[in-house]
Amino acid sequence: MNKKKPIYAHIPVEQLLPIEAMAELQRLAEKISTHDEHYYKNDAPVISDQEYDALWRRNEEIEAVFPELMRTDSPSKRVGASVIQGFSKITHSRPMLSLDNAFNESDVIGFLDRIRRFLQLDNYEKIEVLAEPKVDGLSIALSYRNGKLIYGATRGDGSIGEDVTANIKTIHNIPHQLPSTAPESIEIRGEVFMAKEDFLNLNRRQEVRGEKVFANPRNAAAGSLRQLDSSITAARPLKFFGYAWGASSSSLGDTVSDVRSKFKHWGFELNEPARLCSDVSEIIQYYTEISKGRAALKFDVDGAVYKVSRLDWQERLGAGTRAPRWAIAHKFPAEQAETQIQTITIQVGRTGTLTPVANLTPVTVGGVVVSRATLHNEDEIARKDLREDDWVLIQRAGDVIPQVVEAHSDRRLNHSKPFVFPEYCPECGSPATRAEGESAWRCTGGLICPAQVVEGLKHFVSREAFDIEGLGTKHVIAFHEDGLIKTVVDIFQLSKKRDLILAREGWQEKSTDNLLLAIEARRDIDFSRLIYSLGIHKVGQATAKQIAQHYVKFETFLNTIELAGIPGPSVFEDLINIDGIGPSVVADVHNFFSVPHNIDVIKALSRELRVRPYREEVVSGSGAAGKTIVFTGLLETVGRREAKARAEMLGAKVSGVVSSQTDILIAGSGAGSKLKKAQDLGVKVMSEADWLEFIKLRS
Ligand code: AMP
Ligand code: ZN
Repeated sequence: MNKKKPIYAHIPVEQLLPIEAMAELQRLAEKISTHDEHYYKNDAPVISDQEYDALWRRNEEIEAVFPELMRTDSPSKRVGASVIQGFSKITHSRPMLSLDNAFNESDVIGFLDRIRRFLQLDNYEKIEVLAEPKVDGLSIALSYRNGKLIYGATRGDGSIGEDVTANIKTIHNIPHQLPSTAPESIEIRGEVFMAKEDFLNLNRRQEVRGEKVFANPRNAAAGSLRQLDSSITAARPLKFFGYAWGASSSSLGDTVSDVRSKFKHWGFELNEPARLCSDVSEIIQYYTEISKGRAALKFDVDGAVYKVSRLDWQERLGAGTRAPRWAIAHKFPAEQAETQIQTITIQVGRTGTLTPVANLTPVTVGGVVVSRATLHNEDEIARKDLREDDWVLIQRAGDVIPQVVEAHSDRRLNHSKPFVFPEYCPECGSPATRAEGESAWRCTGGLICPAQVVEGLKHFVSREAFDIEGLGTKHVIAFHEDGLIKTVVDIFQLSKKRDLILAREGWQEKSTDNLLLAIEARRDIDFSRLIYSLGIHKVGQATAKQIAQHYVKFETFLNTIELAGIPGPSVFEDLINIDGIGPSVVADVHNFFSVPHNIDVIKALSRELRVRPYREEVVSGSGAAGKTIVFTGLLETVGRREAKARAEMLGAKVSGVVSSQTDILIAGSGAGSKLKKAQDLGVKVMSEADWLEFIKLRS
């Protein structure tokens, strides 16, 4: 082991003999790799940047003079090795290919026929294949030199993968050292995966900590391996199966089984059970057994892989551009499974939508452990008559969220009752409502519901709402997370928490005071902006403006609500008479103000503000101010939406219907029934050009 190698480091490049150059390239590759490890993995470089650069330069110079001696693991092939962000790249010694797929017996027969023809084998000659489980993880190449693990790379695009060496080294069942019987240089390939049980435990831990929960073991494995911080990978229960290889400096035997037994001897775990099959019926027998025994396997499989057993034949068969000719993957079909609904719970979305979710007895479907399935909405549950404790058929196609196909009503218990959709939000206890014509129930506790508070805060500080300079989405979320802002009212109490803001990272005296000043400036707010900022479902800027216009003063609005106590639907009935506000909007407004907590928050908020009555918003001097106008027909200069916005900015009220209240109808080309109605009612009619002139003159 300690055999001393001669060093040619002092010999100028031009004077190197090829054999010396070869030795130098090996030394440099190893040295650079070691220093990369110190630098990237341990974050502790042991040489200066200049020394490191010098090694690189010498390597490049030698390669320039002896291009034919360039090593497969040459540092220069690792594009961007000095980039810390992201992974550096590794070129595979041989491309890491995909596999062709078979979905049925005749595909398998076709596979064997093609091989027979390609190799021109007689009919009596048996083609033995090794059948193995197709492991559902991600493929990895491990490079060993003189028995030592040098690097590990992902498949990447097949020819260039990512250098995940530091992460690979944290996987317990990957040997760092092979016995001396192993080839001097070999690339071992196989699958990094997460066992089913480990996956479930990891997800449980992640959930408790409020961290990302993975959809399936493969995603968990991939996400864990592709971490820039290898200490995260180390904490994840990853494993490796060896089942293939890239370049090797010496022969590995005559058959796939020979190689597998070598792998095992060297300390690798294998994907079992594997079986040597000598004809189609044996292959199908294996496939049937593995698909039946799939649930009992400790790891996810998504099919079986059949590989021509004789390595000399593999060699002759070679590969196409995408896949080798000597192997095929027999994939399992999209899977269904039976399980039981334990409970049906309600999830509250960020905007208040209530989604029913079936909590299932965990079961593997198509290689994924499923414990929850969305039930979409009330009608869907009713249509399928899904109930708690029901046995159900669930299905998963690809990576899609699992669905409940049907309930086995024959297996239903006597006391079983149809599911009743709750009328209260499980997160905040506020009443839930379902508007006519909509499929979803929603929580009405917009200002207090913990599920909605973040969205609500984001909306509150958005540009069209309070638009507080220096308090964007990012800060409002951070402040909320740290308890500085619980409801929108707290924004206006931040001046009392100046010290707490100052103590935060990135906040200096100046930025803190600027923020507090910006908040002060927003205490004066337009009535309509305030209404819009509340984030009432369906109440956009236009509706907010109409409400403000209707009540003029915020106090009037509040009093109306207060007088009614918890307002009955009639309180807002007069809103229906406003053009453009339909019954469903009124219902949403009503629902919102029926929640006492929402009113508490609004009252507290109004104590912090000086709300400007509606009139002040009007741009004075415009002839359009206060006019009720209707657009019809095709406008030439601007879109309908912009025309409307512009008119509103000038204080006009834009309506969709012509009535005796209408002051002006602006008729574009092709105007029809509205124009006629306006003429009948004697409403003033303008062309688009007239209108533009009119607002120009008067504004
Ligand atoms: P596909 O994912 O459909 O492109 O199939 C090819 C992949 O199957 C390979 O890249 C491997 O990651 C994976 N695989 C899983 N188990 C095996 C196995 N036993 N032999 C070969 N490849 C496998
Ligand atoms: Zn709620």
